[in-house]
Amino acid sequence: MTSPRRTFAIISHPDAGKTTLTEKLLYFGGAIHLAGEVKARGQNRRARSDWMKIEQQRGISVTSSVMTFERDGITFNLLDTPGHEDFSEDTYRTLTAVDSAVMVIDAAKGIEPQTRKLFEVCRLRSVPIITFVNKVDREGRPIFELLDEIADMLALDVAPMSWPVGMGGEFEGVLDLVTNTISRPEGDSRAFLGKTEADPKLSERWAEEIELAQAGYPEFDAEAYRNGDLTPVYFGSALKDFGVAELIGALAEHAPPPRAQPAEPAPVSPDNDEVTGFVFKVQANMDPNHRDRIAFMRLCSGTFKRGMKLTPTGHGKPIAVHSPILFFAQNRELADEAFPGDIIGIPNHGTLRVGDTLSERADVRFTGLPNFAPEILRRVQLKDPTKTKQLRKALDDMAEEGVTQVFYPEIGSNWIIGVVGQLQLEVLLSRLDAEYKVAAGLEPAPFETARWVSAENPSDLKDFMDLNRSAMAKDRDGNPVFLAKSAWEVNYIADRYSKVRFAATRER
Ligand code: GDP
Repeated sequence: MTSPRRTFAIISHPDAGKTTLTEKLLYFGGAIHLAGEVKARGQNRRARSDWMKIEQQRGISVTSSVMTFERDGITFNLLDTPGHEDFSEDTYRTLTAVDSAVMVIDAAKGIEPQTRKLFEVCRLRSVPIITFVNKVDREGRPIFELLDEIADMLALDVAPMSWPVGMGGEFEGVLDLVTNTISRPEGDSRAFLGKTEADPKLSERWAEEIELAQAGYPEFDAEAYRNGDLTPVYFGSALKDFGVAELIGALAEHAPPPRAQPAEPAPVSPDNDEVTGFVFKVQANMDPNHRDRIAFMRLCSGTFKRGMKLTPTGHGKPIAVHSPILFFAQNRELADEAFPGDIIGIPNHGTLRVGDTLSERADVRFTGLPNFAPEILRRVQLKDPTKTKQLRKALDDMAEEGVTQVFYPEIGSNWIIGVVGQLQLEVLLSRLDAEYKVAAGLEPAPFETARWVSAENPSDLKDFMDLNRSAMAKDRDGNPVFLAKSAWEVNYIADRYSKVRFAATRER
């Protein structure tokens, strides 16, 4: 019998404590496997850590991973999202693979820009959110102010589930409002070492504050939470271990199990017997020498078994998945099954792409994994003209992984790449050099943005393309793209060609 699954991500602004909280969740959950360790043995470990250099230099996490832990008979799959805003595209896609999210907020800072952006993505997909207000061991903003800010800025009901009794120097512990039990700091570290007290006697000041809170905010409502209309709020300190066990408990009790996923011809329920899933991320560089890639697939239905044949919808032959990486495996050698909500790493040589649906019968296609219109376009300038082929391969590979987008203009040979953030450009150049041995530079392109074009009537599209040839290009998959000099031009052209659709995102 399979255990229930909770597949979730943590969203936060850099520095709020996501890394610390992740470590503590894994620790409290008795982590069994870290995806970062996949294939990282011997030589490969060195190769991988080379690639990590760019992450270290920038102090950010470029790659993301899957971490799994078990507690009280429930399997938790935590999908890491890169925190840096330049990687929002990657982050957005990861959020398509989770059933719920934990929003970490710094008690001294409240809602910060990146938290808010990620929250909006969750809202688009009605992903339910549990809030964790972190760092209550330090001086923070008044609790009422914080709660009201969450409610106002995110247009969300807030239901406090616990309450910090004092903060910073006055910190006396965290009171669980459901059980009326307080977790107390202990020893020099003032950390939570397991000391709890039921029905504690609090000084009048705190007792009044808590009474006010309970009267002033809505009670937890499971349905409103699951619809994305209400967030239960937990207070704690990831560093000092407060609130971590309660957070795991909340995920276990309230967070939704795998849900039906949007697909064509019809949504796919996790109870469906047929194995289906979609690729939300492709990661290279785990072993640069072999150009190995790992496609991260979220299993949406069926029981996956090692060696199973899965077919990517729309392209390619069935592939036998002989050596899947099953992140939840206690012992990777023995693991050979996965269930809806689990993530499977599928090694491949570039056949699998972000957005691909994989299934046993290839008659279903998951929808809703967006490609975003690039905000920065650059012309790629090759320093050694004999390396054209390598460059094309590299650009195609990275487009496949979703690192950058690539556009091949109809006229001329200057390939153009598009990204949503500056940092992706650096990653591109450094990988061209390190992995493909291609020296290239980037120069400004005469375009500022791009739109995928389509039309109900093929002749309308053809007329448009014929008349605008100098601005037309194809993306990696051969779809027509209009390159525009400005957002203003997009509007202007869109007005003139009312039968042509100009899309800022492309669903794969
Ligand atoms: P991330 O950027 O969101 O991953 O944040 P980190 O987990 O790296 O934490 C950022 C900084 O805040 C680090 O110096 C942590 O030690 C510190 N930090 C994290 N959680 C807490 C907490 O609960 N209390 C205090 N005082 N500091 C914390």
